[in-house]
Amino acid sequence: MKILFASSEAVPLVKTGGLGDVSGSLPLALHRLGHDVRLVMPAYADAIARVSDAEPLGTLPVPRAPGLVRLLEGTLDDSTVPVYLVDAPGLFDRGGNPYVGPDGRDWPDNALRFGTLCRVASEIALGHSSLGWQPQLVHANDWQTGLIAPFLADVPGRPATLFTIHNLSYQGLFDRPTFDAIGLPPHWWSPQGVEFYNHLSFIKGGISLSDIVTTVSPTYAAEICQPHLGYGLHGLLGHRADRLHGILNGIDYELWDPATDPTIPQHFSADSFHYKAPNKARLQQAFGLEERGDVLLFGHVGRLVEQKGVDLILAVLPQLMAQPDTQLAILGSGNAVLEELIRAASAQYPGRVGTRLGYDEPLSHLVEAGSDAFLMPSRFEPCGLNQLYSLRYGTVPIVHRTGGLADTVVDATPESLAAGTATGFAFEPATADALWSATARALELWHQPGIGWERLAVNGMRQDFSWATSARRYEELYRIAIRHSLAAAA
Ligand code: ADP
Repeated sequence: MKILFASSEAVPLVKTGGLGDVSGSLPLALHRLGHDVRLVMPAYADAIARVSDAEPLGTLPVPRAPGLVRLLEGTLDDSTVPVYLVDAPGLFDRGGNPYVGPDGRDWPDNALRFGTLCRVASEIALGHSSLGWQPQLVHANDWQTGLIAPFLADVPGRPATLFTIHNLSYQGLFDRPTFDAIGLPPHWWSPQGVEFYNHLSFIKGGISLSDIVTTVSPTYAAEICQPHLGYGLHGLLGHRADRLHGILNGIDYELWDPATDPTIPQHFSADSFHYKAPNKARLQQAFGLEERGDVLLFGHVGRLVEQKGVDLILAVLPQLMAQPDTQLAILGSGNAVLEELIRAASAQYPGRVGTRLGYDEPLSHLVEAGSDAFLMPSRFEPCGLNQLYSLRYGTVPIVHRTGGLADTVVDATPESLAAGTATGFAFEPATADALWSATARALELWHQPGIGWERLAVNGMRQDFSWATSARRYEELYRIAIRHSLAAAA
């Protein structure tokens, strides 16, 4: 199949979160299955610098874009997967984060930036570029690519469209004049199109008008059809339930492999779990923690936003630190208030709470490799990747039972431990009390004589969350989407 994969970020070019991981690894998995998959994304300065062999492909007349848009072609990583970088004058070639400026606020021209990305992806999808290539399907991801389906929906001979929701809470909402400026067919200013409570909603465009809609775990697929996690779109999602599917993300088993990971000091595997220990020592050094092998070292990596529940970790800190043999390492960046609270916690418990505020990819691998347990009390979590990295690195995840966390971590109960199916600790609701009781259960197992803890961790390491299964599921859905698009055209 010929597939155009559209995203606003992709590892190793640009990453702010899980979307970047998925957009860097799913196309490679599809390529391995024999598909002609090509990635389109913005030409951020970092992306141009990191893409292999970037070559200008020519220009594209894009209505409403500020000047001629250039396409650059390179390849993703060491693979042969082509990447098309959309280079629109003044829109992407700026430093910093793809979505927010140095002041932490959304770039004021985000609608124009990602509207242009959608427009260019649609032109490629219709075979209007100089590539001499037209995909059978466009796979768009999150709100930044949500207008591709509305641009294509009415066009005869269009490719099929599949839209993946990685996080419904980011929607791309703008005002009516922005809709007028973007140049969508005017009739899409309607409840059937992109209009959402008198706003333009990018994400609604992807949900309403794509042939198939997916999200990144079965539980989240059910949760977003309910008011509490549907953000006003639960009615629409429920209405499209026959087109909505939950497919768990995989992880890149080459990039995240404790047996070969070049960023960690000591390699280990499920058969040599004891080699994990030197990584713990290195992590303790890196975070200014006391170097002790006998403590239970809890780790956390993530964007510091309300969703991730870091405030719940801070709320249980007094109880956690009342234990003589616990430590905590946090790597994160985001909300200034949370950053300040974390800084204060590490000042309050020197040698026991270590923090690094910032974005640091290699350090995130060390936290996964060196921690004994990983705290992930997300209030909601579409899929979550860090618990999957934790499982792979023998670091026992402690998670709120929601979304993808519920689908990937098997709670350690006496029964599941005896049956050998347990992989971590799960709790609900998302409160400090419930988090503490799961953490206390973890401490209890840690203190038990014998190899109970090691069995739990090694069991996690033996789970398979590679892309193999999920990429096949996408392949099936691509076929179904193509059938739907042909039926709609007939
Ligand atoms: P989300 O996409 O909501 O941020 P995920 O768990 O799906 O959450 O993915 C987060 C990804 O971003 C993981 O690969 C994680 O390691 C990475 N990450 C988040 N914050 C940081 C950070 N401060 N430094 C390094 N990596 C980070």
